[in-house]
Amino acid sequence: MKRGVVLLGAALLLGGMGQAQTGSAGSKVPLATGTGGAVATVDLDASRAAMRILEAGGNAVDAAVAAAATLGVTEPFSCGIGGGGFMVIYLAKENRVVTIDHRETAPASFTPTVFIENGQPIPFDQRVTSGLSAGVPGTVRGWQEALSRYGTLSLRRVLTPAIVTARYGFVVDQNFRNQVQENEARFRAFTSTASLYLPNGQPPAVGRRINNPDLARTYETIARQGAAGFYTGEIAQAIAATVNNPPVAEGTTLNVRRGNMTLADLANYEARLRPPVVSTYRGYTIYGMQPPSSGGLTIAEALNIMEGYDLSAMSEPEAYQKYLEASRLAFADRGAYMADPEYTDVPRNGLLSREFAAERRALIGSQAAPGSVPPGDPFKFQTDPSYPLRPAPAGFEGNDTTHLTVSDRDGNIVAYTFTIESIGGNGMVVPGHGFLLNNELTDFDPVAPHPNVPEAGKRPRSSMSPTIVFREGKPVMALGSPGGSTIITTVLQTLFDVIDRKRTLAEAFTVPRFSQRNAATTGVDLGGENTPLAQGLAGLGYRWAPTPEIGRLTAIQFNPDGTVTAAAEPRRAGGGSALVQSGR
Ligand code: GLU
Repeated sequence: MKRGVVLLGAALLLGGMGQAQTGSAGSKVPLATGTGGAVATVDLDASRAAMRILEAGGNAVDAAVAAAATLGVTEPFSCGIGGGGFMVIYLAKENRVVTIDHRETAPASFTPTVFIENGQPIPFDQRVTSGLSAGVPGTVRGWQEALSRYGTLSLRRVLTPAIVTARYGFVVDQNFRNQVQENEARFRAFTSTASLYLPNGQPPAVGRRINNPDLARTYETIARQGAAGFYTGEIAQAIAATVNNPPVAEGTTLNVRRGNMTLADLANYEARLRPPVVSTYRGYTIYGMQPPSSGGLTIAEALNIMEGYDLSAMSEPEAYQKYLEASRLAFADRGAYMADPEYTDVPRNGLLSREFAAERRALIGSQAAPGSVPPGDPFKFQTDPSYPLRPAPAGFEGNDTTHLTVSDRDGNIVAYTFTIESIGGNGMVVPGHGFLLNNELTDFDPVAPHPNVPEAGKRPRSSMSPTIVFREGKPVMALGSPGGSTIITTVLQTLFDVIDRKRTLAEAFTVPRFSQRNAATTGVDLGGENTPLAQGLAGLGYRWAPTPEIGRLTAIQFNPDGTVTAAAEPRRAGGGSALVQSGR
């Protein structure tokens, strides 16, 4: 049977009528179930790019890079080759999980006082829109590592859908327009950004088709020359020139500081293959990202704390109170101990120990803590790093942002979160090359002493949390989200909702998100502060900080009957796109 693509709307899974289509030209639906490969991204063009590569015989790694490159065109304010990210890959045949850290690094010129002026940190909004905040981009090196080690197709082949989209254009949606509008003043401040994203001097209208021929050419150079075409030569020179001498428009009132990035900083950029963070929760084995992302450790610590409660048996407010307090405590430890492990001694084993979790759990009462709590002392539980003699059950062998999740018919899975930090990055399109630079170095803590202070060559602490969950050695779910530090709580709450509260994945996307990050107030979205659950929690002392939307999850669930369900947001940020193959 010829493989096709079956698109099933949420209505079908819920028992209503759905529409089945074949080919890769489906429409934008947030939920799709089928057999074979699956993809969930925030954008239909990107999901289609991944599906095309799967249909052409590529594997999940090939398809993930194809989707990511397309997102660099159609979601350019959240991600792209001017930024960095973290990829978690499950290789089914070899039954192992690998992770690729391609986080941006600080240039060699960095010192702990780089963001201090006259004894004070440079104001955050000025740090963002500066050459100083741009880290050496990691994305292209990450793609090349992923493809050359674990892919089956060439960089040229997987970049082709993105090159076509960049050259011939895509249709502006409301989210795209909103993001330009939010950034209008600073986009206007840079000649290169204004000419690309403010055509005729205005944010592009919804429904208008726009293209990015400069980015198409940049991708072609990378396709021809590999990562070397980005980290050396003309593109590298243009990146350094933009950082060191930002292309400010005449008459701008913004105080745009220059950075100090050299060609050597770019040429020397390396991705890192790191062992995943491996933890267990109620019989599930969870693989996440190591530092410099704080995602894997923070989620694992919170789950270790939560595991001491019978959360399924509790009332909804009681169970959520434990989730929120576990998150609060884990965030206290995140803030104190997590940073680039090549620069600071992150007590990973202590943070992951059950004894440490028990000590932290003992601090949780039946009410909300009134505000921030201090960190614990994981060093008491720190042991030497060691590796199990036998593989863990899932086959572990030793070892603004967007998230995409891809699987293929052979069972390989990619959970990939990548970013340029703020929506619109540092606001500067590299002239002639069509991509925005990141402002990732604002993720450093600007005031020393702190493990996450800026230092030469260091990677700032991240919250990105691409995650793959197994049970008895078989994949159950892969997921991740954008949203700064709410990435961690979005992934954590989804695991809690699905594992403890027995929600379907579709339900977990529609419930309001509650986000406690060691603060006096708790974030809540989609009007969730007005729900009976929130009222119950308010009775336990929670005070709400309502916000329109938290996170923009994508996920794939591997169902017990052998089918696979791809899921993206049905509502948040205009919804996402899920596509699944059918037939084998
Ligand atoms: N820079 C953030 C991080 O690495 C991601 C940005 C976002 O999702 O808003 O955690």
